[in-house]
Amino acid sequence: PYYGPSAEEILSKRCQFLSPAVFHFFKNPLNLVDGKMQYLFDEKGRRYLDAFGGIATVCCGHCHPEVVDAIVNQTKRLQHSTILYLNPAIAEFAEALAEKFPGDLKVVFFTNSGTEANELALLMARLYTGCHDVISIRNGYHGNAAGTMGATAQSSYKFNVVQTGVHHALNPDQYRGSFGSDGLKYAKDVEDIVTYGTSGRVAAFIAEAIQGVGGIMELAPGYLPAVYSTIKKAGGLYIADEVQSGFARTGSHFWGFEAHGVVPDIVTMAKGIGNGIPLGAVVTTPEIAKVLAYRSYFNTFGGNPVCTAAGHAVLKVIEKEKLQQNALTVGSYLKQRLTSLKDKYELIGDVRGRGLMLGVELVTDSQLKTPAKVETLNVMEQMKDMGVLIGKGGFFGNVFRITPPLCFTKEEADFLVDVMDYTLSKM
Ligand code: PMP
Repeated sequence: PYYGPSAEEILSKRCQFLSPAVFHFFKNPLNLVDGKMQYLFDEKGRRYLDAFGGIATVCCGHCHPEVVDAIVNQTKRLQHSTILYLNPAIAEFAEALAEKFPGDLKVVFFTNSGTEANELALLMARLYTGCHDVISIRNGYHGNAAGTMGATAQSSYKFNVVQTGVHHALNPDQYRGSFGSDGLKYAKDVEDIVTYGTSGRVAAFIAEAIQGVGGIMELAPGYLPAVYSTIKKAGGLYIADEVQSGFARTGSHFWGFEAHGVVPDIVTMAKGIGNGIPLGAVVTTPEIAKVLAYRSYFNTFGGNPVCTAAGHAVLKVIEKEKLQQNALTVGSYLKQRLTSLKDKYELIGDVRGRGLMLGVELVTDSQLKTPAKVETLNVMEQMKDMGVLIGKGGFFGNVFRITPPLCFTKEEADFLVDVMDYTLSKM
């Protein structure tokens, strides 16, 4: 039983005491008090199927017992800062995480968030190359501190921070982009930026393999290898932002970049890494990692024993429960069912994504691709009322984001699509 304050009381406190910038998707936001795997429960005990997983945050499932045990046991034993002393939790997790990477990507730096991880990656690239210019893709999201806000390329998330040396390349958007799925044509823009917008030398190119906040945008095939070769020639590093697409979510691979046949110089991660515990990481090569040894660099809580114990448990659960395979099987099935909805409703302009990172874009006119913003909100609200939670994203806010915990089943995929189908049929 729940004896706490009601949703209305919490909302009123939130308005009074918390940032005016906080947002929620629903007219009457939910007060969620319990979670169990792919289910969430509100204060009245009503159950919701969670197909948004806290924006790809909860990869093993809410309150997964093995992750909870790891956190509780480590908390009872010791929680401390990561500086000055040794502790087995951090070293063991770093080793296990490094094993998940190809090539020379073997050195791990822990942070508390995705923003911190990307800030650190940009700093390392700048130190390593001696250059300042960074190229990121339009519509991408990389964080909201000074440097990462510069690299983020959507006006909704940008304040007027000084944004030196950041260039935003054409988005290789296969649905709305001018070159369709021709990755090489979009990649030419990066070459032009290097030629016309920099000294010819750059520090880094940073990109998500599938833009999450940007509305589940898979980069056009052929784009990343071509850009990688351009960036190499310009002396720069390729930073793969795996904050959303990492940790088995895409099903076919453990990391999103792997589907593009490239090996980055630096990889950043957060969200799913700790199954909801604040943790982020930067993984790079020993040679690049050396740049941080020229001065004192530390992060008081990045990689603390409790968070790394959680991270290590997550890796074990992904392996033990074959969650990558599940993301592939259930994700492919779900995508196929969503694609057949597209044939039924003109409102659905596009269905895309990989594994359990799927997007459904709503448009009021399929030729003009006019964003169906109001309809998106309405469908989400009604699906919530029927017990299914999905997210939304994209620059226009007209893309459903479906990123459930990786333990999502085929039956739940069916339930989600049936509820979406019913809702759309009533529009
Ligand atoms: N990179 C990507 C791809 C993200 O989606 C986000 C968060 N939405 C971040 C970085 C920043 O992560 P955090 O909110 O943990 O700082």
